[in-house]
Amino acid sequence: MKRTKLIYLLPVLALTASCSKDPVEDYEETGALEPVEISSSDEMAELANPALGNVTEVYFAGQQLTVEEFGGEYIYQGDIMLAPDMVSQEPVKLVYEKDETPPANKSVGRTSGRWPNNTVYYAIDANLDNKARVYDAIAHWENKTNIDFVERTTQSNYVYFVSGSGCSSYIGMTGGKQNITLASACTTGNAIHEIGHAIGLWHEQSRVDRDNSITINYNNIQSGREHNFKTYAEQGYDGDEYTSSLDFGSIMMYGSYSFSSNGQPTIVKKDGSTFNIQRNGLSSGDVTGVNNMYPYSSSGNTTTTTPEPIYVNGETYLLYGIWVLRKNDSWFFYSRTYGWKEVILRGSYWYYR
Ligand SMILES: [Zn+2]
Repeated sequence: MKRTKLIYLLPVLALTASCSKDPVEDYEETGALEPVEISSSDEMAELANPALGNVTEVYFAGQQLTVEEFGGEYIYQGDIMLAPDMVSQEPVKLVYEKDETPPANKSVGRTSGRWPNNTVYYAIDANLDNKARVYDAIAHWENKTNIDFVERTTQSNYVYFVSGSGCSSYIGMTGGKQNITLASACTTGNAIHEIGHAIGLWHEQSRVDRDNSITINYNNIQSGREHNFKTYAEQGYDGDEYTSSLDFGSIMMYGSYSFSSNGQPTIVKKDGSTFNIQRNGLSSGDVTGVNNMYPYSSSGNTTTTTPEPIYVNGETYLLYGIWVLRKNDSWFFYSRTYGWKEVILRGSYWYYR
């Protein structure tokens, strides 16, 4: 029989679900919260901020994205921060005329963002409480994967663990200092999850092939949180799948009841059954996927060399912010102005030929 318990789907409690405080007391104190029944897991999906931010549309990677805005910071899918210099309020030009000079800040999706030499540099804010969460999470990553974590000395690209209003991270190496925020309620498991984002992992339910494994019940999702359940491609990001199918045990996977508005599941398996969120550690699928992303070379040195992608004529790809068609070993882009027109990539900018 499925074990259930009462909790309240107020996000602040979702974040503090692992605390000893009894949610029933909170309910009686405030009298305002709706109790709902959810499945037995104590672990909750990560949130950058317990409050729902100002839900707004911005442009990122040439696509319109729904994000939450908190005082100038943009949060995507609950706990993913978008680098501010890659976000704009206006549509951004992504293909330039031959002689045009692109602006200094271009809004593109991350096509790489890997940490060179499989090494993540990090520093921990002196005021962060329970630093053991960070050390334990790092030790877990180092034990299980090819990735090394080295305390930063003078390196310019590094992860900075700092307290905040929730648990959050950027996706991949952004360049410069990039925060992972850990509120007091964030567990070691949440820290492992946020490090997963920082090394380049999307949420597992954001896979492009996820509809083979799960059904998203959009009617049960809290208003304003629907965008947390889109695939990375639907939201205009690039990415790739490093394992053959969706892993329900992934530490990057939401649970069936994550962000439910009504106690009904937001994500179910194809047979309609539910599953629990897992935040104990990396699953074997997580380890396989990460080690495919960050292979270990036989020479003893780790390497970030990834195989050259093979582009198939007749297929479309999301590359450097735009969807392009591969044809006759060249790239074509469709615009209202020109229809299909050949484009070439110079540096990280697309130009019309
Ligand atoms: Zn996350």
